Amino acid sequence: MRYVAVVGSGPAGYYTAEAAQKAFGDAVRVDIIDRLPVPYGLIRFGVAPDHQSIKAVSKRYEQVALSDNVRFVGNVEIGRDVSVAELQSCYDAVVLATGAPVDNRLDIPGSDLPGVIGSAAFVGWYNGHPDWATLDPPLAGPGAVIVGNGNVALDVARILSKTPAELAGSDICAHALEQLDRSGIVRVTLLGRRGPHQIAMTPKELGELGHLSRAQPLVEDADLPEPGADALLEPGMRKSVQHLRDFAATPIAAKPISICFDFFAKPVAIEGDGRAERVVVERTRLDDELRSIGTGETYVVPAGLVVSCIGYQTPAIEGVPYEHGRGRFANLDGRILPGLYCVGWARRGPTGTIGTNRPDGQAVVELIAADGAAGSGKPGRAGLDALLAARGVEVVTFRDWQNIEAAEIARARAGSPREKFVSIPEMIAAARAT
Ligand code: NAP
Repeated sequence: MRYVAVVGSGPAGYYTAEAAQKAFGDAVRVDIIDRLPVPYGLIRFGVAPDHQSIKAVSKRYEQVALSDNVRFVGNVEIGRDVSVAELQSCYDAVVLATGAPVDNRLDIPGSDLPGVIGSAAFVGWYNGHPDWATLDPPLAGPGAVIVGNGNVALDVARILSKTPAELAGSDICAHALEQLDRSGIVRVTLLGRRGPHQIAMTPKELGELGHLSRAQPLVEDADLPEPGADALLEPGMRKSVQHLRDFAATPIAAKPISICFDFFAKPVAIEGDGRAERVVVERTRLDDELRSIGTGETYVVPAGLVVSCIGYQTPAIEGVPYEHGRGRFANLDGRILPGLYCVGWARRGPTGTIGTNRPDGQAVVELIAADGAAGSGKPGRAGLDALLAARGVEVVTFRDWQNIEAAEIARARAGSPREKFVSIPEMIAAARAT
């Protein structure tokens, strides 16, 4: 028997388990360990609540979870309940699929003022992550600034702009829906430190902004390159830029919320009397290598809420080599140390789609197969269970998760697929309820 522990139950974790099942059949036992009592990581807590079709991929992970050779071991935190070294003493292979849930820091004066929030926290708040459920972001308005020109910036802009009716079919959690319903934000400014040809936004997600009932995306014609220059872009990027051109060409409608794209604009300071009140922005230009260079010219954008959507890092784990400059585990194609691997965003940083994790999972399983034969004599599951039992850890199983999920579905408001529990004690209580 080959014993594999996967740390993290998001897409990278489940695709790794799926690949292990396929490669080793009944000769493998995979334990997927998560610090939370609920599975699916980014799918539950990162993907926007109004993107239910993307979240549907969890049904595929459920098929993996329900097979006999894969277990979900929830409510177990590496470093608190069990160490990586202990996992390595129990399992033939340990795969870290811990994602990248830590915000890159917006390193400018004033970025620690109340009202300045990283996207992991803001997205976690509206998605009901237990770490962020009590965030209480300042939504009084009238201005909000979003830093960054990626898809997360788009998610945040859209959630700040949608009406409760537009969020009806989503699984946004009740506290966020209530607070957003009272929001006074009428101007959302997206700051891109480079130009329209350098955005990291995909066409489908950008196009959605053009169909919001109470918000209009605004792009300055002057920021757009000559139309002929789009021919050099790859097709997806060309479509995205076409959306920006369409936004620039759309007459201003009488919609109460404006989503303003400020290109060639980087934040240099956040100011306010004890809380964020305005962002000082420097105009930029691009150098020959398409890097943004400050011009020295500044302007001010009033904002009580500043959400920085500038990428993420993988949290370091004691004893595991880490590449600080890149915010991920130090690894060579997924190998960290003998018997210790990483996959997904923990391996390559926070880029790509959910599907990108599938080949990652297959690749790490190929490494595991190449690196060692099964049958090392390690105790596997029994070893972990003994450690956790001795420490009094209350493990949550996949069956428990099914109880939690059933309770979330039962208490959902009309039209919503679920009403999430947002604290660990609530989740565990629902797991144990009969
Ligand atoms: P991202 O795609 O890497 O975008 C980060 C943005 O932040 C870039 O525009 C970057 O500009 C900017 N930035 C970085 N540091 C900055 C700084 N110090 N000051 C100002 N701007 C800064 O990251 P993301 O939006 O967090 O998305 C992460 C991944 O998840 C991506 O692969 C994304 O496509 C994916 N995602 C997909 C979906 C979807 O498909 N629906 C939804 C959400 C996320 P520069 O280019 O100048 O560095």
